[in-house]
Amino acid sequence: MNKKIALIYGDGIGPDIVKAAVKVLERIAEKYRHKFTFCDAPMGGNAIDEYGDPLPKKSVDVCLASDSVLLGAVGGKKWDNLSGSKRPEAGLLGIRKALKLYANIRPAKLFPQVADRSPLRKDIVENGFDMVIVRELTGGIYFGERGIRQGKLGREAYDTECYSEIEIERIARVAFEIARKRNKKITSIDKANVLESSRLWRYAIHEVAQDYPDVTVNDMFVDNAAMQLVKDPSQFDVIVTSNMFGDILSDLASALTGSIGLLPSASLNDTTLGLYEPIHGSAPDLGENVANPIATILSAAMMLRYSFDMTEEAADVEKAVDKVLCDNRTQDLWSEGKRLCSTSEITDLIIKNI
Ligand code: NAD
Repeated sequence: MNKKIALIYGDGIGPDIVKAAVKVLERIAEKYRHKFTFCDAPMGGNAIDEYGDPLPKKSVDVCLASDSVLLGAVGGKKWDNLSGSKRPEAGLLGIRKALKLYANIRPAKLFPQVADRSPLRKDIVENGFDMVIVRELTGGIYFGERGIRQGKLGREAYDTECYSEIEIERIARVAFEIARKRNKKITSIDKANVLESSRLWRYAIHEVAQDYPDVTVNDMFVDNAAMQLVKDPSQFDVIVTSNMFGDILSDLASALTGSIGLLPSASLNDTTLGLYEPIHGSAPDLGENVANPIATILSAAMMLRYSFDMTEEAADVEKAVDKVLCDNRTQDLWSEGKRLCSTSEITDLIIKNI
């Protein structure tokens, strides 16, 4: 298969970790006889420096003309004093909007090799956990009507949560399709005891569920979900939820793994063109060739699975990562008895195991 991949290196550790993932993709292309072509799409602080714009139009065009996009991370102290729309992070919102990415997929998996990093109690961690959070990304309260006005008690601010049935149904379908490829179990998280938007959410999820009789659906209130995630994360397989609830719960779930350097993510639309990126930022406190590239390498594996339907290739990368993690660590996860690796060393070990 021939695929064109846009690369957004970004800032800080971005270039190091994207280069690592590209090397892994090149190894996959060699082993499985695919052809991957890579094109640069500058975004973030480096794009501000070079083009005066965190997301030059040229970069959007490169992404739109590609089969998929791999992103490192953007941002850094140098650009921290710029105003909102001129900051590197504005590029993130811009590219998500340009690609109409409405589904954010974040796996939160406990890697048994680094289970001691989890802040959870040992008896909880022992059960392991491996869930995928499907978060609606372009609707809800972050995009609803908002403002500041004079109320009865003086100045007041308001934000509104609004979801159409169509928005809920399309995110539900993404979640059900993912659940079908996993353990066929969905937890839909809402606040239907209080919010009208959550009652429609619940209704629409169950309407879509009728097309997926092989998948079990449970509803859970968001406050209970926060508690259950901490008490027994092993009960979850696929979670589907709104933009704001997903924002909060996906950070909670990733913190439970104790290893943000290992966690990938994908943002999808109605086409196969997705945006894949690690969940962490540009780590400006780190030097060169020390960052953990695994979250980005696993993001590339998600690209193989979700955008290119290359299930075997994705599993090959994931297995190599699992194997290498047994004895080798970058500094963020290093512990006594393990080999300390640089970014390029751990990447080469992963490549060797593919
Ligand atoms: P961060 O995720 O960059 O760093 C948090 C901590 O985790 C740091 O100690 C860092 O060294 C460590 N860390 C992160 N990734 C690592 C990796 N791969 N290997 C080893 N250690 C790693 O979060 P932050 O410090 O809050 O933000 C730094 C910059 O990144 C800010 O400018 C922020 O706006 C930006 N940011 C960008 C994105 C993105 O591009 N999607 C996401 C979050 C933050």
